[in-house]
Amino acid sequence: MDTSNKKNRREFLKTTGKAGLAAGLSATVLPVLASVQTKQFIASGGAEDVLYIQRPLPYAFKTLEPVIDAMTMEIHYMKHAAAYANNLADAVKAEGVDTEKEQLRFLLGRISKFSAKMRNNGGGHYNHEFFWKGMTSPVDSNSPSPDLLKVITRDFGSFEAFKTQFSDAAKNRFGSGWAWLVKTADKKLVVGSTPNQDNPLMDVSDLKGIPLLGLDVWEHAYYLKYQNRRPDYINAWWSTVNWKIIQQRYEIADMK
Ligand code: MN
Repeated sequence: MDTSNKKNRREFLKTTGKAGLAAGLSATVLPVLASVQTKQFIASGGAEDVLYIQRPLPYAFKTLEPVIDAMTMEIHYMKHAAAYANNLADAVKAEGVDTEKEQLRFLLGRISKFSAKMRNNGGGHYNHEFFWKGMTSPVDSNSPSPDLLKVITRDFGSFEAFKTQFSDAAKNRFGSGWAWLVKTADKKLVVGSTPNQDNPLMDVSDLKGIPLLGLDVWEHAYYLKYQNRRPDYINAWWSTVNWKIIQQRYEIADMK
């Protein structure tokens, strides 16, 4: 290959990579671009898509009572989460993100290139949309499907051991943040936590992987009912997990 061909090939790969990014392509096109950024992108490819706008809650404010009271849900969704969505809209405009071309999950993968406002609100918006969806509506099952249970048992020893590890991550996150179950690039399930509104899809995050389950441990998520008793909120929260959704996320993470 002569120099100009090499250059053309580089240009081709660059263009294809960007187009793939926009189209959500992964395994077939992108492994040729074996950069850290590309690996991050492939990881994001299997992550749940979250729109830049706030979606309606998938259930009523009171649905998760008595675990999460209606007033907490209303303030959390209408005030806190809405503010993240609004501030994110400002940030993408100010920083020239083409939201038609780049999905939020991919933007999070290169969040280090943007402002603190983008990081806090991009993460804040993604995390909350993800959180609402992962909790149950009355018709959904609240125990893991056999498929997922098998993988959880493989990676944590037992479902109880997994719950303990996740609960500990949530309890021990100092200040505000999130606990997560993620699927890592080497296809293992791992539990961890992130500070503030950081997220495992972010290039700046110590915990990296495709999020399957997330728990908000900011005080605004539980203070009206539980005050300083974060462990009580965490223990009660388990009964709200919509395992059907977590199973779907696991399957999508596997496919892409
Ligand atoms: Mn919150």
